[in-house]
Amino acid sequence: MIIGCVKEIKNNEYRVGLTPDNVKEYVSKGHIVYIQKDAGIGSGFSNEEYNSAGAQIIEDASLIWEKSEMMVKVKEPLEEEYNYFHEGLILYTYFHLAADKPLIDALLKAKVTAVAYETLIEKDGSIPLLAPMSQIAGRLSVQEGAKYLEKKYGGEGILLAGVPGTVRGHVVILGGGTVGLNACKIAVGMGANVTILDINLKRLEYIDELYGTQVQTLVSNNINIEKSVREADLVIGAVLIPGKSTPKIFKREYLKIMKKGSVYVDVAVDQGGCGESTRVTTHDDPIYVEEGVVHYCVGNMPGAVSRTSTIALTSATIHYGLQIANKGFSQACQENDVIYSAINTYNGELTCLNVANSFDDYN
Ligand code: NAD
Repeated sequence: MIIGCVKEIKNNEYRVGLTPDNVKEYVSKGHIVYIQKDAGIGSGFSNEEYNSAGAQIIEDASLIWEKSEMMVKVKEPLEEEYNYFHEGLILYTYFHLAADKPLIDALLKAKVTAVAYETLIEKDGSIPLLAPMSQIAGRLSVQEGAKYLEKKYGGEGILLAGVPGTVRGHVVILGGGTVGLNACKIAVGMGANVTILDINLKRLEYIDELYGTQVQTLVSNNINIEKSVREADLVIGAVLIPGKSTPKIFKREYLKIMKKGSVYVDVAVDQGGCGESTRVTTHDDPIYVEEGVVHYCVGNMPGAVSRTSTIALTSATIHYGLQIANKGFSQACQENDVIYSAINTYNGELTCLNVANSFDDYN
């Protein structure tokens, strides 16, 4: 198979879809790999490393799109890339289509096979291609939140850990999945008071077993959310219903009852966000303030720690990418039906039910 990998063009996105080690694996199985010049620089991988791994380096992204049977990326294609789509192209990347109708239309029109990292669901219910980035975003969310609690950013001027004789900061985490649990780990490590809410009681039991009295677990409903955010210094939005747009459980009215200078980090922003006041922000301009609450809603948080993120992501994506390349798409799906769950568009049809359910037009 001919495999391509272009430089990411999203704001401050330094990750790359393939590492030199990944290239070696594809090339050793007889595949041809084209890498755009400097695609790996932001993650610390030089053109020479890709070259010695067996990739062919091409400067022009459009040529790579044109030649590739499977394009391996990190972020969803942006509008300027839609022209490169061609019939039968396998596009293996994050898409987050429930929040991106123009991209769905472009994929359907060009009959691209969209294989979405975020909807590949293993038999045990895990989402292995989302998990590594969620681990990173979860850990970063507390780091970023702690920074924006500083006075100069409009924050309360609170140190989450406190010091002897002062009150410790209170972190409220909405959603106790991978992002939530990793946020919890860092918040507890920093010495904050932590409350975590989820609708899944089994998950709350698990968190309770892990952290005992260090963490308050609560069932996620409007009453508990309202009570918790009232006391919070940092709220982290980490809710997901796979493939669907995120339920808006962090309501605009809560901003009025929250402390001035408290911070809301909406990690779920890539799926539409779980805050009614959420607007997508970028690493260049990450925050805005509404009703005195500092909002941080960057859709590609792991891009900030690109080297760690690229290695973590590609260690997971190579597993399924190799199956597709070695067996061909249809055979790979037949032999491992987990890959079916990742197909969001195929031959001009929208094939992911949760994405379709997010739009009236596709129902
Ligand atoms: P996950 O499936 O592991 O966890 C989601 C959790 O939300 C589950 O435990 C689920 O029970 C819970 N949930 C569902 N509805 C809820 C509700 N009403 N109230 C409280 N909890 C509820 O998902 P994840 O891997 O933790 O990802 C969370 C979100 O973070 C996703 O939208 C993902 O795309 C996003 N994400 C964003 C970035 C970024 O850079 N911004 C990076 C990685 C992941």
